[in-house]
Amino acid sequence: MFSDITEIYVKAGDGGNGAVSFWREKYVAAGGPDGGDGGKGGDVVIVTDNNLNTLTDYRFKHKFVAKNGEGGKGGKMYGKSGEDLVLKVPKGTLIRDAETKLLIKDMSDDKPFVLAKGGKGGWGNRHFATPTRQCPRFARAGVPGEERNVILELKLIADVGLIGFPNVGKSTLLSVVSAARPKIADYHFTTLKPNLGVVGFDGEESFVMADIPGIIEGAAEGAGLGHKFLRHVERCRLLVHLVDVAGSEGRDPIEDFETLNKELVSFSEKLSKIPQLVVGNKIDLLYEEGQEERFKEYVESKGYKYISISAPIQHNTKNLIGTICNELKELPPVVVYEAEYVAPEIDKKNNDITIERHDGVWFVEGQWLLNIMRSVNFSDNESFAYFQRVLRISGVIEKLVEAGVQEGDTVCIYDFEFDFVY
Ligand code: GDP
Ligand code: MG
Repeated sequence: MFSDITEIYVKAGDGGNGAVSFWREKYVAAGGPDGGDGGKGGDVVIVTDNNLNTLTDYRFKHKFVAKNGEGGKGGKMYGKSGEDLVLKVPKGTLIRDAETKLLIKDMSDDKPFVLAKGGKGGWGNRHFATPTRQCPRFARAGVPGEERNVILELKLIADVGLIGFPNVGKSTLLSVVSAARPKIADYHFTTLKPNLGVVGFDGEESFVMADIPGIIEGAAEGAGLGHKFLRHVERCRLLVHLVDVAGSEGRDPIEDFETLNKELVSFSEKLSKIPQLVVGNKIDLLYEEGQEERFKEYVESKGYKYISISAPIQHNTKNLIGTICNELKELPPVVVYEAEYVAPEIDKKNNDITIERHDGVWFVEGQWLLNIMRSVNFSDNESFAYFQRVLRISGVIEKLVEAGVQEGDTVCIYDFEFDFVY
């Protein structure tokens, strides 16, 4: 079965313990301390893999633990670092905190993401030697690796989502315009997972199209398979609403069209707002005069653009792809969700800061802020966005406003300087 939401537990490796050891040599009574440091624990790293389009790998296995760092040894020998554990997910996987359900990361780019940091190794006793303490008999234990429970939820990244009743020809269309090879058969629910295909046009412009499996009546209430797949429609830029315009299975195209749109609205208002291009398929099966015209007039009167095709013989499909390309040019890019999760230790109770003003510049200081800043890479957009969230959530921004900071004033937080914009 297809799986696109699952909960997993990850734990990074613990840091190895520092060693207590003394240098020994024949005829030398007592050498100095030479206990080495423990190795760092492995991180749990998440990466995207374009060959994946389900979370099936996480369906039966839910616990992922990276290797611990090894203990330090005598002779100033460092412990070996624990290996990182790399988990592959399909592009478009959302990682949420299991408890608060807040978004930690939207895996929509190709950058690896460290979900749990390995613990630092403990210092060996050689670090603790001082002129007055020449034989330290202690060392530091390694720091435990981070652990967390997260929910993985797949919301595929596709420019175009193919929607329609079962059997209208979605898989067939995807197979003739891309290299994807979804199963095609004339019984319902043949497609058990969304398929993605890259569609080329005139040898250059290309977009990603997803075949969203049968959305049926009642799907939004959880009946059938459709409900599960609706989440994948959410970030499509354009929906291609495919209809069996010949009514070859004895159904009425207008009714089908309306039923499916109602499903979209009841799943989410947002879905129903995504622009739609209506495509009448199976025109090779039309037998009645005026059959197609009725449908065409109906959808056009509702303001939709209409195109007719016959997918298996590729009749008019080139025109369809060209139209899709043109529509996409006018539409905003695929939505990437902004992270909402901020570590719980950053709360308003625990955020003492001092604000001072010298020569028109505001200086903010606080030990906890300094700790956070050490882990932020200010040249990386994501870390930077995280830092801004921390400032907001922890109340720093609020306190600056209370202190009288004006729009455009310069604010300095240690070595980080910025112009204040509320
Ligand atoms: P899906 O459930 O929407 O993915 O539909 P499929 O692509 O699996 O197609 C269902 C059946 O309709 C298959 O037997 C296809 O061969 C057939 N089919 C699809 N498009 C056309 C068409 O334009 N004309 C005809 N005659 N049959 C079609
Ligand atoms: Mg199909």
